[in-house]
Amino acid sequence: MAAEVFLWRLPSQGGADLAPADPRPGLRRLLQATGPHPRGAGGGPWVVKVHVGPPGRPAGIAPAWALEAATSLVGARGGAVTTDTLSVSTRGLETTQALEATARAKGFGALPDLPFVVADDPGGPPALPVPGQPGRRLAGHALAGILRGAGGLCVLNPVRAHPHLGAVGAVATLGLDLADRLAKLSLHQGIRPQVDTPLCAGCGSCLDVCLYDAIVIRAGRATIDHNLCTGCGECMGVCFMAGIAPEEAGGLQAFQEAVAEAAAGSAPALPVGAAGQSGAIYVNFLVQLSGPVTASKTRRRLPIAGIGLVASRDPVALDAATFELLGNRLSAPLAEWTGYAQDPGPLLARAEALGLGSRAHRLREV
Ligand code: SF4
Ligand code: SF4
Repeated sequence: MAAEVFLWRLPSQGGADLAPADPRPGLRRLLQATGPHPRGAGGGPWVVKVHVGPPGRPAGIAPAWALEAATSLVGARGGAVTTDTLSVSTRGLETTQALEATARAKGFGALPDLPFVVADDPGGPPALPVPGQPGRRLAGHALAGILRGAGGLCVLNPVRAHPHLGAVGAVATLGLDLADRLAKLSLHQGIRPQVDTPLCAGCGSCLDVCLYDAIVIRAGRATIDHNLCTGCGECMGVCFMAGIAPEEAGGLQAFQEAVAEAAAGSAPALPVGAAGQSGAIYVNFLVQLSGPVTASKTRRRLPIAGIGLVASRDPVALDAATFELLGNRLSAPLAEWTGYAQDPGPLLARAEALGLGSRAHRLREV
């Protein structure tokens, strides 16, 4: 059955379409359209998942946008927290202290009614186990502990390039970005990047970003020690020669299937709203699509103007609509925008096959 997806288009700014935009009016309307949003059976606060992003770059979701979402969901008097998970790939986001400091520097947690909490803080609530299913890749999975007892979940996701998925939408956010850090590391197992040596100039950019000291430069060329490498992919995004790629394409397919399994397995553990309805709402941000948040640092990409916001309770339908909108705007394969050869199509197909949602959708403008 076709799922409902709501779209708010950015007002055209004429020749300034690539300029920063304020999506808050759209967010308000989308949350009204997908409502009502009563606090669910968990009884805890609404969890508003944001994307803090690396130090030195703008936040993927601005604190003001998160505040707009929280106010639309629970009113102006508290009852929500903003959160993000620890990174397995990016310096400044990899420990509770580092992520808190980066989030604070970008303005999160400044309002007492809307604190910022690290979702999978090892000192916080234990991770939420997600059992594996017979015949699947994952023996088990774990969601960030902040979701224990949550009254609802609102995912604010800036659609952006990703080395293993092509692009990050709502399904990837659920399967990967809301995972506990240890589960995230285990999802990346099996990806073995290699340096395409004829292209390597020995610049050391990849070495600088590797959290695991897995790269050395020998005789002017980078070499990856696969005993230390976690497959996080950070080096692939910074190589200006696009000289680092997975050893075999099969690793990426297995990764996408595992992320789809993680997402599908996680759905039953998410907050439940009134009358048994899902207490999770997903919003994909198609704004600032050529800015530093959405771009890989070095890959060639087509510049593209912002489109708007899309929201749904069905993450698969939402992503299908999102990537369709992007494709229509690009009039070219998604890879022309992401800079990575792979796209998230197999991820969505697998997530649908596992019952997470439906790629068939009805797009309604609000
Ligand atoms: S070498 Fe491995 S661990 Fe290091 S950045 Fe690249 S993918 Fe990540
Ligand atoms: S970033 Fe690319 S070109 Fe530079 S050392 Fe690493 S692999 Fe070589």
